[in-house]
Amino acid sequence: MQTCRMPRNPSYWESELPPEAAPAALPARVDVLVVGAGFMGRWLAYFLGKRANPPSVLVLERDRYTYGASSRNAGFLTCGQAGEMLADAAEVGLDAVLETLRLRRHGIALVRREMPGLELDECGSTDYDPVTQAIRELLPRLNEAAGDNIYSIREACLAGHTRPAVFNRADAGVHPVRLLKALQQGSPARYAFGAAVRSVADGCAVLTDGREVRYGRAFACVNAFASELDASSPVVPGRGQVIVTSPVSTRTDRTLGYMHAGYDYFRFVDGRLLIGGGRHLHRQAETTSELEGTAQLLAYLRSAAVRVLGHGDFSVDYHWAGIMGFVGGRHLGGSPRRRVDASTEQVAGFGGMGVALAPVYAQQIAAEF
Ligand SMILES: Cc1cc2nc3c(=O)[nH]c(=O)nc-3n(C[C@H](O)[C@H](O)[C@H](O)COP(=O)(O)OP(=O)(O)OC[C@H]3O[C@@H](n4cnc5c(N)ncnc54)[C@H](O)[C@@H]3O)c2cc1C
Repeated sequence: MQTCRMPRNPSYWESELPPEAAPAALPARVDVLVVGAGFMGRWLAYFLGKRANPPSVLVLERDRYTYGASSRNAGFLTCGQAGEMLADAAEVGLDAVLETLRLRRHGIALVRREMPGLELDECGSTDYDPVTQAIRELLPRLNEAAGDNIYSIREACLAGHTRPAVFNRADAGVHPVRLLKALQQGSPARYAFGAAVRSVADGCAVLTDGREVRYGRAFACVNAFASELDASSPVVPGRGQVIVTSPVSTRTDRTLGYMHAGYDYFRFVDGRLLIGGGRHLHRQAETTSELEGTAQLLAYLRSAAVRVLGHGDFSVDYHWAGIMGFVGGRHLGGSPRRRVDASTEQVAGFGGMGVALAPVYAQQIAAEF
């Protein structure tokens, strides 16, 4: 295992972020050790810092940014898209889907409440898949679970063509790296970057350079890399690829957008189109923790961008990959919390939903202290 897996293509968000410095020294013992400085690790450190008697917290991150999903995602602060939830309901049942929607809605409320200074793009989201009868019947159930009529059908414009589409007025876009930074700055926890953990169990973490840190409780928030620390972890990696174009003009609505049951997604950032997806077409190749983008997916995303914009008058300025973790390899239905031993737990495997779900689990765990 390497201490820092750079270089790789920076995401659009990471390009404004200087690498963090490596720490000179580590404490010999802490109350709580967090491994991984993605959303899960940082939200956990944040909420632990809000306790009446906050425990001492150390966050160990092997990268100088984050290496995985949190600084490389699309930044959709969303409680779910109708077509995707319909497909999930067929697989895991409607109750599980509605419960996840409730959790994500709570997570969005937590982001808004805890990070009032964070700028969000309050644009809502549009699902451009055809509005079928099954979708029409699902919407009242989604609104009931959400506790508000956030889903509705309205006219939406894609590449100059207007059609009825499901709109979610509560969804927003977030700058993931600014959220990561705000979490770190809002917490008294100590962060150590460039600190790779080789093992974490039975009250002691051993780093790849041989240093040791003892702990009262530890949480391995390592997402797709969970099996590197616990061979029996059910978390399976899945790569997602994203492009950002040059600044563009278009008649497409400037909301968050979904196509193909949520597998493809896009939004507008600083006048550019960000578009990701295509995993469903290359499932085997994308079941990997390698952070390299591929020419195949680049070509797919470029043509998807032409469909969204209605023209090809742009360049691809950024192309990057991020790594998700899926419990049991499935999109939905498995718990991310997993006990390793009496003092050690893994919290990993939020799939494509961690922006909203991580704060919920972090708040839940911190309440146990
Ligand atoms: C392309 C893409 C688009 C996405 N879009 C969205 C979206 O729009 N909305 C949404 O809700 N979700 C989205 N997701 C999913 C979301 O990004 C993740 O669910 C979330 O970031 C997971 O956070 P995490 O902290 O669990 O994991 P990560 O962000 O992967 O963090 C885990 C960290 O652990 C560190 N680590 C691993 N092993 C070790 C070790 N041994 N020692 C020290 N450190 C270690 C890694 O370096 C990494 O930084 C997307 C994901 C991808 C890949």
